[in-house]
Amino acid sequence: MTQTSVLDKGYVALLEVGNEIVIAEAATASTGRDVPDWERLVRTLLQKGHLTPFEFIGLRWEIYAPVFVRDQMFRHRTFSFVAQSQRYSKEDVEYYVPTRVGQYAEHLIQDHIHQCELVAEELLEANVPREIATRVRPSFRYTRWAMRTDLRNLMHFLQLRLAGDTQWETRQYAGAMYRMASTACPVTFGEWDKHYQGGKKQ
Ligand SMILES: Cc1cc2nc3c(=O)[nH]c(=O)nc-3n(C[C@H](O)[C@H](O)[C@H](O)COP(=O)(O)OP(=O)(O)OC[C@H]3O[C@@H](n4cnc5c(N)ncnc54)[C@H](O)[C@@H]3O)c2cc1C
Repeated sequence: MTQTSVLDKGYVALLEVGNEIVIAEAATASTGRDVPDWERLVRTLLQKGHLTPFEFIGLRWEIYAPVFVRDQMFRHRTFSFVAQSQRYSKEDVEYYVPTRVGQYAEHLIQDHIHQCELVAEELLEANVPREIATRVRPSFRYTRWAMRTDLRNLMHFLQLRLAGDTQWETRQYAGAMYRMASTACPVTFGEWDKHYQGGKKQ
């Protein structure tokens, strides 16, 4: 398991990842031939866009991020998710407060979060069901989820979410995932880096 801090309080943990040699093993099912150099085969598959064997590598993540980052990640339909429950979770609530927007904006955001927390408290005290009362919390709230990806669809995700048109905060998470996945799958990402840069195909 490896873990990287992201933003002020968030993190990405890579809990489990398959071995890259499986990509070559899956690919050779088509020919039935032994492959003396599996790394070369992995590079060739990526170069030629034969991407199905990369789906044989699973990666299991745990992510702690603001709700708006989660919303963007949840758009990736090939990923599997288990999200933190608003009704049952008893964890302390934490918020992301962006600092790159200037002191005035930071102060307004903090004030808004504070007001929303007061309303949530009041609703809970009035016995409003927890899953309704906590909905007044803004999307700066941190949340946790488990996520499973395969390597092929992770590469697609990274191509989109490392690019400059993706929101900065989500890019920080994609960057952490990219670094952890590249360490775990160096042959694949060594080749991927030659074709993609900053999330854009060269
Ligand atoms: C910068 C940016 C801005 C965005 N802004 C918005 C926005 O304003 N509003 C909004 O709603 N979304 C927005 N999105 C989300 C975007 O539209 C996609 O939903 C998201 O990026 C997932 O990408 P995807 O559909 O390529 O792939 P994924 O959902 O990750 O799926 C991977 C691949 O599987 C295949 N696939 C998956 N599902 C199907 C299917 N049902 N049929 C056929 N093929 C399928 C496709 O080949 C797809 O490329 C934004 C994304 C980015 C990167």
